[in-house]
Amino acid sequence: MARTPLVAGNWKMNKTTAEALRLAEEMLPGLQAVAGVEKLVCPPATALMPLSALLHNSGVALGAQNLYWEDSGAYTGELSPGMVAEFCQYVIIGHSERRALFGETDADVQRKVAAALAAGLRPVLCVGETLQQNEAGQAAEVLSSQLRAALEGTQLSSAGALVVAYEPVWAIGTGKAATPEQTNTLLRNVVRPTLAGLYGEAVAQGLRVLYGGSVNAANAADFFAMPEIDGALVGGASLKADEFVGIAKAAG
Ligand code: PEP
Repeated sequence: MARTPLVAGNWKMNKTTAEALRLAEEMLPGLQAVAGVEKLVCPPATALMPLSALLHNSGVALGAQNLYWEDSGAYTGELSPGMVAEFCQYVIIGHSERRALFGETDADVQRKVAAALAAGLRPVLCVGETLQQNEAGQAAEVLSSQLRAALEGTQLSSAGALVVAYEPVWAIGTGKAATPEQTNTLLRNVVRPTLAGLYGEAVAQGLRVLYGGSVNAANAADFFAMPEIDGALVGGASLKADEFVGIAKAAG
């Protein structure tokens, strides 16, 4: 089944609004020149409104890095799904930094995914094992349990409604990417079968599964050559226009 590749940039807590606009303007022509690939940038929340104006009808989608599941109320510092959906098409959910640094649990991730879908947003659901879990041979178990915890009981209107990002925690921001072959094997033997168990084979074959963890313009093509890898979630390299455009080109 043909799945349109998705190349997504997670800018994390980097860039003021002015800097974010400059970066988006710098990468836009290069991204627009890449056909057959969906492109997505996820800046800090303060930059969502100006970037939504810049990127409107540009062919580059906009995403938030997080949301809260309630619609409104006394939740200081949080953004509701509706607030995010005013500006964005996508939202990253369950990033390992949110799980590790901000105590986000599988139950929180489940509520966020459900709330994002209900608001018409496409979640980019992040799952991945830590170094310790990897060394203990638990990667498969962790991946399937995180996926089931996040998605059980949640319906999808179509395979396009959700994106899964496999991000081994030990590969994020370390410069030590997983190998494309190892990743492909895990996606084929664990991620897609778990998704098939939840949503049936046809939906599982249509869902996009990204790799994330130290992807750059030099190593991206090797990942995208793998049949199970449908794109990348990119941190550090998404802050450099030429690198991010290079990654998008490699997916084309
Ligand atoms: C990420 O934070 O999702 C990520 C993959 O980061 P990096 O590309 O810097 O490893």
